[in-house]
Amino acid sequence: MFSHVPPYPGDPILSLMEAFQQDPRADKVSLSIGLYFDEAGRLPVLDSVRQAGDALAREQSPSGYLPIEGIAPYRQLVQNLVFGAEHEAVRAQRIATVQTLGGSGALKLGADFIKHYFPDAEVWLSDPTWDNHLAIFQGAGLRTHSYPYYDAATGSLRFDAMLQTLRELPSGSVVLLHASCHNPTGVDLSREQWQQLIPVIVERGLIPFVDMAYQGFGDGLDEDAWSVRALADAGAQAFVANSFSKNFSLYGERVGGLSVVCNDAATAGNVLGQLKATVRSNYSSPPTRGARLVQQVLASPELSARWAQELAQMRGRIKDMRAQLHGALHERFGERRDFGFLLTQRGMFSYTGISEPQVHRLRDEHGVYLIRSGRMCMSGLSGANVQYVADAIARVLES
Ligand code: PMP
Repeated sequence: MFSHVPPYPGDPILSLMEAFQQDPRADKVSLSIGLYFDEAGRLPVLDSVRQAGDALAREQSPSGYLPIEGIAPYRQLVQNLVFGAEHEAVRAQRIATVQTLGGSGALKLGADFIKHYFPDAEVWLSDPTWDNHLAIFQGAGLRTHSYPYYDAATGSLRFDAMLQTLRELPSGSVVLLHASCHNPTGVDLSREQWQQLIPVIVERGLIPFVDMAYQGFGDGLDEDAWSVRALADAGAQAFVANSFSKNFSLYGERVGGLSVVCNDAATAGNVLGQLKATVRSNYSSPPTRGARLVQQVLASPELSARWAQELAQMRGRIKDMRAQLHGALHERFGERRDFGFLLTQRGMFSYTGISEPQVHRLRDEHGVYLIRSGRMCMSGLSGANVQYVADAIARVLES
């Protein structure tokens, strides 16, 4: 009966993680999967989240079904965090926000909604982008294309080509944009570039779908959401997927949000209703725990201040690792090779320019795991391994 079902080749990143776990070498270093590790190489349990968990444990509330759209105060807190509590669109109640299963769930919900209400829309993704963007949008039955983004030769953006491509898209095309901390490249649009891009989106009638999986990992909570807010300021109607996987270190709780910025409150009400219908026919209602934890933190001035501090520490550690790796490589290479991109890229990831054969050599000869594209996850670095990694990279690049 199932003989026509082919084996699943596995997710390349998760398979690499398994290979890493089985690698017996003591000095192996995992720089592949997009998780934030602390200086000791552990996934952190944030103190703010622990305190929130203690408070929830004391409450011992039963686990009934949540409303289809999620917890109301949580959804409001998501809007406040993503757009700013004082944002005109928030105050005008013209944003429909649904609690989702992480950022992926938000993307999938938005993709299903688009397929239903904009069936002819095609989706444009940055070249390159997070692999799962393709799988999620294609899985919803939408056609995907890519717009120029990263220039491997210079390590910078192909911004003019990107803008030109977007200028020529049919109105109603969906454009997936990374709010900050672009995955996989680490190269973000500057504010000046967003200011050139946003009028094109609005004038051409494109539908922006902003993916914000790393709010607070680039320059700060408000700074990283600047692009989302600028789009809403410009009157764009937009989809915004946000995730608390990384910034709350709550990967397994599957907690995030999908916000749809509409022109007025009545439209937002209708959109919310249809998003609920989409959720209902998919998984009926979201899980409780992650949203309760995030709500507990964000609703408390003390806990949210503590969280912001812990997030700043994670962000600072990533920047410090960027600086240390840059310093170590600069010492080895001097002016022969420029690693300045390590300092200018933002967030957890870096496109290193290390080729696929070199990635294989790093793994086989030195136990240093990057993904095939040469993307490095900076949070796998620590004071204990950064010199080792720099030496391994130098050996591989020089021979
Ligand atoms: N978007 C991007 C760009 C990501 O990197 C990720 C996580 N790797 C997600 C969305 C999904 O986040 P989540 O784990 O919350 O589903």
